Amino acid sequence: MRKYLEKLPEEIKGLIKIIRRVASMNKMPAYLVGGFVRDLILGVKNLDLDIVVEGSGIIFSEHLSRALKARLIRHKRFGTATVTVKPHIKIDIATARKESYPQAAALPVVTAGVLKEDLLRRDFTINAMAVSIFPGNFGSLVDLFGGEGDLRRRRVRVLHDLSFIDDPTRILRAIRFEQRYNFSIEPATLKLLKEAVRVKMLERVEPQRIRDDLVLALKEQRSLKNIRRIQALAGFDFIRRGLRPSKKDYSFMRSIEREITWFRRAYSRRRALDGWLMYFMGLIDSLGFKEAGGACKKFAFRRGETKRILSFKKIKKNFVAQLNKKRLSPSRIFSLLEPLSYEAILLLKAKYATPNLQRHIEDFFEIYNGMRIYVSGHDLGGMGLSPGPGYKKIFTRVLNAKLNGQVKTKKQELSLIRKLIGAC
Ligand code: ATP
Repeated sequence: MRKYLEKLPEEIKGLIKIIRRVASMNKMPAYLVGGFVRDLILGVKNLDLDIVVEGSGIIFSEHLSRALKARLIRHKRFGTATVTVKPHIKIDIATARKESYPQAAALPVVTAGVLKEDLLRRDFTINAMAVSIFPGNFGSLVDLFGGEGDLRRRRVRVLHDLSFIDDPTRILRAIRFEQRYNFSIEPATLKLLKEAVRVKMLERVEPQRIRDDLVLALKEQRSLKNIRRIQALAGFDFIRRGLRPSKKDYSFMRSIEREITWFRRAYSRRRALDGWLMYFMGLIDSLGFKEAGGACKKFAFRRGETKRILSFKKIKKNFVAQLNKKRLSPSRIFSLLEPLSYEAILLLKAKYATPNLQRHIEDFFEIYNGMRIYVSGHDLGGMGLSPGPGYKKIFTRVLNAKLNGQVKTKKQELSLIRKLIGAC
């Protein structure tokens, strides 16, 4: 494995060096495990380091966060911890319990047994490999289930026959890895997966656990491929019994994909878009408001997520008809779209792809959204106005005038306010 470790970016190599030092100084064998090892062999970038430590992961994480001067979050109940090195680089540390030490103060023997316990609990062979980062056997691969061979054969394989029954979320995980790496699900595994689907395991598992893996599937770069494959292999009864996205729904989701790509390219500096939420909306487009609300509740989406989903469901034909008008003043476009989330606006654009609506939405993003006026409460106070609801009314009038091109400079804004006050 050393040749693979050598190829890592300098920043990650430096981190591994420090982890190795901390492991050695504290006599705690440590291993890189899981997705990091899979991606290490595949040569795919991965900045989430997963470490398993024999002994106490918590104590190890305390030493490590001190050595790295990085933020530490401990989950004492699970014996796990996360060290956040940079916003995009983190190290998850877990404990593999070691029962005994051969002699007091001796280096603990690297017992395959302790690590095996941990690896046995994992989902697929390709995710169940470990690489030692302990001096003495640094860089050696622990591959107890033939994960390296499966990576070479490009296949997703479970560790045992009851894997999908033990944890049905692995059904979605298998599809996710298959689609992400263009692998195939190994035939015996596929049979087990289909059997688990047949006995409705996905409907038996706690919805919130399924939600997490569904969201991950929708966040993948090729979400639509994932969605098609989930429908083919597992169906979407786990969202709502009888839910079968139609051709029309897929055409909507393809438009969603286009709009997400357009927005991310054009407005990379704006608020990040929750693309997964838009695909979810595409999936449940055939559901009514109440049913969609039921799905949100079942999956215990966050308040903001539910709000965005339901606000789109609430949009009436009349609202769309207004946006379809050829002539709309900028202030009208603004007042229609500003209260909506970016996701809801782009869903509108994807669903009602008429030229007028498209143009108004593009103008909204390009020009009107984020337009600010110069005058502030301080200016109004200076004009003898006392703070209150009247301020908001004035600001709205000034902003509308600015959107419609009637005022441009601060001087013009102030003069408009004077006129407004005078008219009162
Ligand atoms: P990704 O690249 O999508 O982050 P990952 O493999 O790192 O993939 P995580 O969800 O971060 O996935 O999980 C880390 C590791 O934990 C996996 O590689 C796997 O070994 C193990 N794991 C995660 N979920 C399960 C599960 N449901 N059952 C068994 N093992 C799991």
